[in-house]
Amino acid sequence: MPVTTAASEPSTERVPGRVWAIRLTGHADRTATVTCTTAACRMPPRSKDLAGLRAFAAQHAAAHARVAAVHANAWCHCGFTQCAAHPDTPAHCAGGVALVLQHDPVVGRVWTLQEVCQACTPLIPNGCSSFGGTASPA
Ligand SMILES: [Zn+2]
Ligand SMILES: [Zn+2]
Ligand SMILES: [Zn+2]
Repeated sequence: MPVTTAASEPSTERVPGRVWAIRLTGHADRTATVTCTTAACRMPPRSKDLAGLRAFAAQHAAAHARVAAVHANAWCHCGFTQCAAHPDTPAHCAGGVALVLQHDPVVGRVWTLQEVCQACTPLIPNGCSSFGGTASPA
């Protein structure tokens, strides 16, 4: 009797880490639009109110962080991208994942929220963990 191991234990199967990116895109006529990688999200119309759009984008990223429940069995999305967020500080992905919101104030136009492991989280520049620091398991 052959033993089949395929399709067993779905609850411990790793799932890909998720990522949300909210972008403020400027146009030649001094208007801008906000986009989200989640197509279903309702975004404000193209507008000249850059400050308003920027505030909306920041709030939108925070809203995703609040609503999204971390998949405890997710892969680190940072590691999935060969750690593109911190190319100068290599890490070996380890530990559980948390939601990390990354926003570079210099660029100021992109908010990235991703599921990141404990090894990568402190290495991500301008990263902010939604868990308010690293939670160490007992
Ligand atoms: Zn969205
Ligand atoms: Zn990484
Ligand atoms: Zn990682």
